[in-house]
Amino acid sequence: MKWSMLLNRLFFCCIPLIVQCYKELPNESLRHLAKFTDPERLAVNGTLMKPLLVERVSGTSANIRVREYIVQHFEDLGWHVELDEFTDATPFGEKQFANIIVTQNPDKPSRLVLAAHYDSMYQPDFEFIGATDSAIPCGILMNIAETLDDLLSDGSIHYRQKDKTVQMIFFDGEEAFQQWGPTDSIYGARHLAEKWESSIVTHPKKVMKNRLDQMEVLVLLDLLGTPNAQFPNFYRSTSWLFYKLIGIENRLNNQSILKTVSSKTGERLISMFNPNSFLTFMGEAIGDDHVPFLTRGVNILHMIPHPFPSVWHNRGDNADCIDQAVVENLAVIFRTFAAEYLELDPLPHNEL
Ligand SMILES: [Zn+2]
Repeated sequence: MKWSMLLNRLFFCCIPLIVQCYKELPNESLRHLAKFTDPERLAVNGTLMKPLLVERVSGTSANIRVREYIVQHFEDLGWHVELDEFTDATPFGEKQFANIIVTQNPDKPSRLVLAAHYDSMYQPDFEFIGATDSAIPCGILMNIAETLDDLLSDGSIHYRQKDKTVQMIFFDGEEAFQQWGPTDSIYGARHLAEKWESSIVTHPKKVMKNRLDQMEVLVLLDLLGTPNAQFPNFYRSTSWLFYKLIGIENRLNNQSILKTVSSKTGERLISMFNPNSFLTFMGEAIGDDHVPFLTRGVNILHMIPHPFPSVWHNRGDNADCIDQAVVENLAVIFRTFAAEYLELDPLPHNEL
C-alpha cells in the first residue's frame, strides 16, 4: 500500500450506507467462539501460517505454490473456489497474476467480503518475506474460515441467515514492482473490480446488476501482526462497523479473552482501534487494494494500522516481528466480527 494524501476526496459522494440490524452475541457465545483459537495454527511456525511466510512475488513459482496452498485450504473446507487469472504489463514485462476468490455458499446473494493480498514485494537486495504484508492477514482469514466453517453449514441451527454469506478475496499483485503508481500496483484489485463491474448478476431475492452489488462491505486487512497497531476509522460509511469492532474488543477484554500485549513503553494497550486518529474519515490517504472497489461505490472497512509498522517494506518484516498474542487477539476479534455480522451463534437458543 502507499501513503498518499494526493488521492482526491471525491469518492465519498457515491458510497451507499449499509443499513441493517446487527445483533451482538451474548458473553457465553463470545467465550465459545474464543475456544476455537488453536495457538499452534496461528503461530508463525505453526501448520497454518508457516507455508505463507515465504517470498511469494507475483509471477514466480513460489507465488503459485502459496496460491495452491490457499486454494487447497478452501477446497478442503468445501467452499466455492474461483481463480481470476490474467496477464498485465509490469515494468519487468508481462506477468501472470491470479486473484483467489472463495465463497462459503455462492448461491446466497449478499456477501461480507474479507480480503488481503497474498503476493510479497519484489526486493532484489534481500529476502523480503512480508509477514505483516500480508502473510499474517491471509492466515487470519484462513483461520476465520476454518474456525467458523462448521457453524456455517446449510441448515445449521447456528446459522439462520438465508441471504448472506462470507466471501474472501486473496489479491495477487498488490505490490509495485518498481514504483507505486496507477499502472504499477494493485494489479489484482484493479483487474477484479473492473471485471466485476461489467459482470451481470441476477437473483430472485435481491435487486443487483453486477458482482460488486453483492458486496455489502469489503473488509481489507493489511500490515497486521506487530504490537502497538492503531487502526484509524477511515470511512464514514462504515464507521458504525468500526465502532462494532471497538465494542467487540471491549467485550472480549471484559471476558478476559484477549491476551495482554504491552506497548513499547511497557504499558498495556487499551485499544487497537483509534477513533481519534487524525486520519478519521480520511481513507483517501492510503492507497491499497480497496481503492478500485471504493471508486466503484463499494463500502470499505480498511484495517491497516497507522503509523505503519516500523518493519514496513524492509528486511525486518519477517516472522521475528510478529507477536503471537497480537495475532491471536486479531483472529478472535475478526472471528467474532464475522460471526455477529452473519448472525452466526455457536450457542443458539433452542426455542427460536
Ligand atoms: Zn507492501
